[in-house]
Amino acid sequence: MTNPADKYEIVMGLETHVRIKSNTKMFCSCANALELASEPNINVCPVCMGFPGMLPTVSAGVIDLAVRASHALRSTVAETSVFDRKSYFYPDLPMGYQITQLYEPIADGGEVRALIDWELRTFRIHHMHIENDAGKLVHAGWKTLVDYNRAGSPLMEIVTQPDFRSKADVLGYLEELQKLMRWCGASDADMEKWQLRCDVNISIRIKWETELRNRVELKNVNGFASIGRAIDVEFARQIEIYEAGGSIDQETRGWSDERGVSTPMRSKEDAMDYRYFPDPDLPPLTLTPEFITTREIGDLPMDRRLKYLNEYKLIEDDARILSEDLIISNFYEELVSITKDPKKSCSYITTILFALFEAHVTRLNLSDIKSETREIARVIELVNADELSSTNSKIVIEKLVFEWWKADEWVDSLSLRQTNDTGALEAIADAVIAESQTQLAEYKNWKVNLFGFFVGQCMKKSAGQGNPKIFTEILKKKLS
Ligand code: ZN
Ligand code: MN
Repeated sequence: MTNPADKYEIVMGLETHVRIKSNTKMFCSCANALELASEPNINVCPVCMGFPGMLPTVSAGVIDLAVRASHALRSTVAETSVFDRKSYFYPDLPMGYQITQLYEPIADGGEVRALIDWELRTFRIHHMHIENDAGKLVHAGWKTLVDYNRAGSPLMEIVTQPDFRSKADVLGYLEELQKLMRWCGASDADMEKWQLRCDVNISIRIKWETELRNRVELKNVNGFASIGRAIDVEFARQIEIYEAGGSIDQETRGWSDERGVSTPMRSKEDAMDYRYFPDPDLPPLTLTPEFITTREIGDLPMDRRLKYLNEYKLIEDDARILSEDLIISNFYEELVSITKDPKKSCSYITTILFALFEAHVTRLNLSDIKSETREIARVIELVNADELSSTNSKIVIEKLVFEWWKADEWVDSLSLRQTNDTGALEAIADAVIAESQTQLAEYKNWKVNLFGFFVGQCMKKSAGQGNPKIFTEILKKKLS
């Protein structure tokens, strides 16, 4: 018997809320508490509490980050966007409406690329709008308490096209979205801190069908693992219904991770009428073309990752590590621009520097390096020029990490510079041979394993500064 699951394909779209990392809330000067505040209801004021007669004003810091995020999504930023009121009653919503953007959002279109099972996939963005967050209800026994610290904090809602065909697509997209938000500085997008939360729209259809069937919206599924589980369960649930001859209603369901099931929240029939209308307290948001273009983002993590894989021929793990964090990636780019050696620049970061950071008591990172980046690059150049052995280069790197100085100064003050002056090395080799007549006689008597003895003596005589490769060449000639 064939598995009914093989007959169907899953079609998904995502609505993701990302908390903007601005200093203030969206329409007032209250602190935007990104972490849990020490006490409830301390970051509040008459504006975010919706007191009558208070006027909201848009925070420039929020718009700045939203525009950067739009560029990271390769969206078109609207020179004019409009704030709308979405009215509903809930105790965590002090104004009685949410300020959002329905008809004219700040960003239109765009895409996120992700590597899914080694294949580059592009997921289209429908639009991105900005809106304020609600407060938080805390259930304590028979009472429910409300904390408004989060009320009025800025959110971006990123809505995709229905481009997802598997759980791997969804998880790959979210991981890439998280990288993009960190890369442009708009958000830390930490799921555990509720800085990134996701609603998944799921429908299924027979594989050859082209029309979309009714979809179910799974609300606020949090964390990568739960999203994966929720998708599996919903896919199986819809197949079972269709296979039994039933139909799926357009509805919103809530996912319970503890129980591993979703339960209906509301159907199409009892969909709320939010009475959207432009907020009369807020003029349309207009941005100058300069404001928009000066916030453009060049290379994205995926551009760098593909370059490292395809042009620099780095292995997949290294390409990923060196492209996901802006500081690490820019450091790597700078090293390569100086050394023109992508492979060695990679290994000096991923093996030597990272091992050094890890071994330190207070786990270090690249910004803790005391010397300038070009000095690290200089070490790689010295190794490539055979002026420093790779073993000794680790000593110099360690010095440069903990003290501000120059690579060349360290190499000389520690007497680590290799001599490549063939004439000088030849003189040393002659002296060694002259002093080692017994070994020479034995060597000539076919004891080839004594060759290492001569190299060792030469290194000793040059106080470790002779280039062992050159000594080997010289000795090969002289002893033959
Ligand atoms: Zn406030
Ligand atoms: Mn929303």
